[in-house]
Amino acid sequence: MPTVPARIIATEEGFNVPEIVEAYREFLSVRGHEEPTLVAMRRSGPPDWPRLLDMDQRLLDMDRARIDTQLLLLSSPGVQIFDPARATELARHANDVAAAWVRAHPARFRALAAIAPQAPDDAASELERAVSQLGMHGAVINSNTRGAYLDEPRFDPIFEAAERLGVPIYLHPREPAAGVIDLYSQWGLETAVWGYAAETSLHALRLIISGLFDRHPGLTLVLGHNGENIPFALDRIDNRYLASRGMERFPLKRRPSEYFRDNIAVTTSGSNWWPAVRHCIDVLGPQNVMFAADYPFEDEDDAVARALDFPLGATSQAMFFHGNAERIFGITTD
Ligand code: MN
Repeated sequence: MPTVPARIIATEEGFNVPEIVEAYREFLSVRGHEEPTLVAMRRSGPPDWPRLLDMDQRLLDMDRARIDTQLLLLSSPGVQIFDPARATELARHANDVAAAWVRAHPARFRALAAIAPQAPDDAASELERAVSQLGMHGAVINSNTRGAYLDEPRFDPIFEAAERLGVPIYLHPREPAAGVIDLYSQWGLETAVWGYAAETSLHALRLIISGLFDRHPGLTLVLGHNGENIPFALDRIDNRYLASRGMERFPLKRRPSEYFRDNIAVTTSGSNWWPAVRHCIDVLGPQNVMFAADYPFEDEDDAVARALDFPLGATSQAMFFHGNAERIFGITTD
């Protein structure tokens, strides 16, 4: 008899607000050339589906899929394409909307804060407001911000705030940066087919090798999509980092894989595929792998059905479906 978890928390679930969808539309028509990475959005327009914007539709979908709680993330690219002041204002608005959804249905919704990394001090303040006043559980950043990566020292206030507040940063995918986007888009590889994982794994490795976790040992980063494929390469990353004199060139206190195991947790968004999930649990430990569906971009019914079939014992299953999310994001439920 397969066991069923007491509760299912899905940890990378996209939402958006009409004002930001409209701002995408305006940006594309006036300044789209400034962001050549928005290949899919230029082709099809910004997504304005009811399932991204409508809370009641979402609750029906969650009921049908047997998802108790969604952790809401402003969908990619968030506010990261806009000018700093406008981005900061839109992030605050998205957070106010998400907080209202959580207040209306505290058992069904929790949220990560949207922030604008292009205004690092304001982003840190907004993270603090979101956590201390709105009860949010961390922040989401959609990989590069107009080609800038978070290992630049100017972004440090964001990590300093997250570490101080004891909340994770969810490093969510977006398209590869402008300098390389054509190499992907020529064959339609810029999105979830491969480009998202290539971009986001590069970003995560830049953070590790730049010494982020030596500067902030208490910081937790969360990666979706089974760790954006990094868990499969951890042994080789350590081996070649050491063999290429990494410790002299980019000195770290520990091996890259040790930070990955101790400072990074992963979710199964978009890939509830047992061979991949089993590998993550094997190399990262059952305490570091959490269920996610990636609503509304993936089929949440299929995600739950597949994950319920994973051959996990009752204890590991409870960690996977809710216990790890409760611990890592500080989500308390009763
Ligand atoms: Mn996602």
